Amino acid sequence: MMPNGLSLTGRRAFVTGGARGIGEAIARRLAAQGAEVVIADLDGAAAARLAEEIGASAVALDVTDLARVARVIADTGPFAILVNNAGVDQHAFFTKTTQEDWRRLLAVNLEAVFATTHAALPAMQAAGHGRIVNIASEAGRMGSRGGAVYAAAKGGVIAFTRSIARENGRKGITANAIAPGPVDTPLLRQAVAGGPRGLLDAMTSATLTGRLGTPDEVAAAVAFLASNEAAFITGETLGVSGGMGCGQ
Ligand code: NAD
Repeated sequence: MMPNGLSLTGRRAFVTGGARGIGEAIARRLAAQGAEVVIADLDGAAAARLAEEIGASAVALDVTDLARVARVIADTGPFAILVNNAGVDQHAFFTKTTQEDWRRLLAVNLEAVFATTHAALPAMQAAGHGRIVNIASEAGRMGSRGGAVYAAAKGGVIAFTRSIARENGRKGITANAIAPGPVDTPLLRQAVAGGPRGLLDAMTSATLTGRLGTPDEVAAAVAFLASNEAAFITGETLGVSGGMGCGQ
């Protein structure tokens, strides 16, 4: 049986990018631990299918549409748990990246986190309770060869998360980031397909465990940070990366 402190019963959770990959595993975990989950994803049909299966709700949402993010959170909130998971990556050496790449990667990976947090935080402050978990990346701590723009966005997420933690620690709200290493999802497979040969092996070897992570291993950390058990943990960046970033 699940310890009481891990139960999320009665908690409402908003999960961006929750239709597949890591976000899907997060939605499944939070729902299994009792949360009422709203899955927000660009792919509204996939979000709706998953929601139906796990007893959640779904909304088609492009997190880069900042005005709509605010409307959706106002309409479907208030939320006790906010998980910023939606993200995009591309493998490209810096001189091959364009300003358009910069804008697109920062819009999804960083600016959207501003928008959801701005919309969800006031209700958490009023309730005196909240859990914000932002899915960053080890790239945001270590940098990334072939991922400078992505790393810049994820580094921004980590600094933003710490700042939200500092401002809200006395209001019952925690804010933590998770830094996954290579996790076997469509995003990883796409990024690897656009990179040099042997990239997947190199990423795998960079972990201390010598294997890729699973989406559920990230989701387990999210569910813990969202629970009462983690009330004294805030402003942290938790590597879920097979030790890839240990010591960072
Ligand atoms: P994924 O591509 O498998 O899934 C991402 C989900 O986000 C998809 O359902 C997609 O539709 C949704 N999404 C993308 N753009 C969106 C937008 N503009 N608005 C709303 N939804 C949008 O990716 P994943 O591997 O599951 O990644 C999840 C998070 O984990 C991302 O933030 C990613 O940067 C981070 N991450 C992943 C890895 C990895 O190896 N897979 C490593 C480190 C960090």
